[in-house]
Amino acid sequence: MTSELASPASVPSAAAQAAVFDPDSWYADQIERTIITEDELRSKVAELADRVSSDFADTDELLLVGVFKGAVMFMADFARALSVPVKMEFMALSSYGNATSSSGTVRILKDIDSDVSGKHIVVVEDIIDSGLTLSWLLKYLDGLNPESVSVVSMLRKPGVQRVDIPIKYLGFDIPNEFVVGYGLDYAERYRELPFIGVLKPQVYQR
Ligand code: 5GP
Repeated sequence: MTSELASPASVPSAAAQAAVFDPDSWYADQIERTIITEDELRSKVAELADRVSSDFADTDELLLVGVFKGAVMFMADFARALSVPVKMEFMALSSYGNATSSSGTVRILKDIDSDVSGKHIVVVEDIIDSGLTLSWLLKYLDGLNPESVSVVSMLRKPGVQRVDIPIKYLGFDIPNEFVVGYGLDYAERYRELPFIGVLKPQVYQR
């Protein structure tokens, strides 16, 4: 297995941070602000997919591995933006911790269904916070004897990683705040929002 090095991340634009969503939407009174807009997510998906497609242009088949449920939206968009053939696998992991942070002690609820030995794996992640879950996953995948494992993550909260994670393809560094949307939830809600945003404090107090 080969390990990949991290590359610099883009920073969300001031325009995105100031962007206003539809005031008539059902979530208008629940979202405090947008951190990354739908347009910015769309162009970042295309950019990341271009880089991965070009890096793996000579590969017969790429194996994308996503973790339920947060990575589902990104996985769906990312797979369709690639110009190389892929197979998709999903894992479900239970990470012990509280509602908003993980502990790094992970249990597999749903494993990969196919043999990954000799394959080029790209782990598709929604967000890297402490990095403990991903660190566990990378060790696990490494044990399955793949040809290589790389990580593409749409988001990262810099400065809070408790382990060193090699992220080759990174979307955005975001502030160290709890975010929702584009697959990310609070109490299983808000995954369907097409942008990344921060909830109003009163949502947590309900
Ligand atoms: P880590 O192990 O890196 O601390 O956490 C990874 C997982 O925690 C992510 O895949 C995601 O499911 C969840 N997570 C971390 N930060 C956030 C956040 O800001 N918002 C949401 N909704 N989930 C998060």
